[in-house]
Amino acid sequence: MSANTVTALLAAGAADAAAIRAPEGRAALTYAGLRALTGQTGAWLNAHGIGRQDRVAIVLPNGPEMATAFLSIAAYATTAPLNPAYRAEEFEFYIADLKARALVVAAGHETPAREAAARLGVPVVELTAGPEAGAFTLAGGTPGAAALPGPAEPGDIALVLHTSGTTARPKIVPLTQTNITASARHIGETLALSPADACLNVMPLFHIHGLIAAVLSSIAAGGAVVCTPGFDALKFFRWLDEEAPSWYTAVPTMHQTILARAPRNAEVIVRRRLRFIRSSSASMPGPVMRQMEEVFGCPLVESYGMTEAAHQMASNPLAGPRKPGLVGIAAGPEVGIMADDGTLLPQGEIGEVVIRGPNVTLGYEANPDANAKAFYQGWFRTGDQGLLDEDGFLLLTGRLKEIINRGGEKVSPLEVDGILSDHPAVAQCLTFAIPHDKLGEEVGAAVVLRDGHAPSERELRDFASKYLADFKVPKTIVFLAEIPKGATGKLMRIGLAEKLGLASR
Ligand code: ATP
Ligand code: MG
Repeated sequence: MSANTVTALLAAGAADAAAIRAPEGRAALTYAGLRALTGQTGAWLNAHGIGRQDRVAIVLPNGPEMATAFLSIAAYATTAPLNPAYRAEEFEFYIADLKARALVVAAGHETPAREAAARLGVPVVELTAGPEAGAFTLAGGTPGAAALPGPAEPGDIALVLHTSGTTARPKIVPLTQTNITASARHIGETLALSPADACLNVMPLFHIHGLIAAVLSSIAAGGAVVCTPGFDALKFFRWLDEEAPSWYTAVPTMHQTILARAPRNAEVIVRRRLRFIRSSSASMPGPVMRQMEEVFGCPLVESYGMTEAAHQMASNPLAGPRKPGLVGIAAGPEVGIMADDGTLLPQGEIGEVVIRGPNVTLGYEANPDANAKAFYQGWFRTGDQGLLDEDGFLLLTGRLKEIINRGGEKVSPLEVDGILSDHPAVAQCLTFAIPHDKLGEEVGAAVVLRDGHAPSERELRDFASKYLADFKVPKTIVFLAEIPKGATGKLMRIGLAEKLGLASR
């Protein structure tokens, strides 16, 4: 039987093998060490009256303690990692909304979360890092082994997260032990992860991508995860050289930054050849994927994930043909395409992407309206639009909320992005809706140029016109030094027109 609790996953790793690592020479935490730490955390929670259904919010700097706090609290209760960048009011909202029983913060780390918890009467617990990567003690004593409670069970909620808030106010997603362990296993199967693997984690650990694809999938495979303080374009190649990971996972904007720095790090890339690179959470432009594979000399595996699915839904294969611009075949849950009336559509037809499987959340918390819209006959509606091709590969054509409606003509921003990013002067682009008096919405695009290129707006529009029907060609193209990103590194289409002061014409 497959392990469907965090405790069961942790039990499988070899005692002496490294589980959690950190850059800059800190000793690794072995599986034996991680199991001991998890038991201590369980005993601590029990001694403080925090049971399997209770929630512990964590606000820690990205790094190994964030990974081990997540794992060890999830083994006995529910972890709720929060974005450390929130302001006091946001913390207060989330800590109250989550009904957190305690807040874990790093000793000596000033965060407005402390003040928010104090206002709510939620105990603040200081975590002090130990010598090995991720080792820690919690303030309030170390209870004896007698205080160890039974571990959480498959149906218990292990993790509560918010969606990224790319298209709307973030929603609270509870994920069970079964949900997160199934997803970690699916990712391990897709990538053939083994105890020999070490993942370099650069993703924030308050988001599903890093927590499950980097941390939990590595643990499920008995491998190691190197926990960095977060993405850093300057340090990335040093970590690659010093830590010699076998893979990393990131969002496309990070890959693009890495790619830009690759030429001056060619030796490290060869010396520390990766087994593969994974991309998820936003669409990877085809040309970038091809360049990454060429420059790094390894497969670039693009996967499709979301918070509500405990991350992975579909993936390109590691071995076998990968299709640039497509997000791959069902990789864990079943994947279907649904029409507005709820019928499942045949291959080749566009509709809403729906999923069902052991990794899918049972529903948003305290949000009956969202649940009524999201679930239909056992399927979960992702809010993404796409089609399945003749090989069962999923092509995403956009998010339903982001599809541009130009006087009734629907424009897929992803399609326009794909064309513009093929222009040699374009480093990055994002197509978005501009509110328009008569049409409702008009097509706009924000473009970041490659160094040394200065095409006119007209030139880019002419280029797009060669491949796109007139109504899809952006009427306005703005040149930016950088495209605004959300907290998890995603480019924000919704609200961009307002942010750029582009009014209707
Ligand atoms: P919110 O739901 O609050 O608007 P969000 O959907 O960005 O935010 P996440 O759960 O982090 O929150 O992201 C899931 C979404 O990311 C998917 O529904 C999909 O739109 C997008 N996505 C994930 N992977 C890919 C990919 N490989 N290609 C294109 N889009 C992707
Ligand atoms: Mg979403």
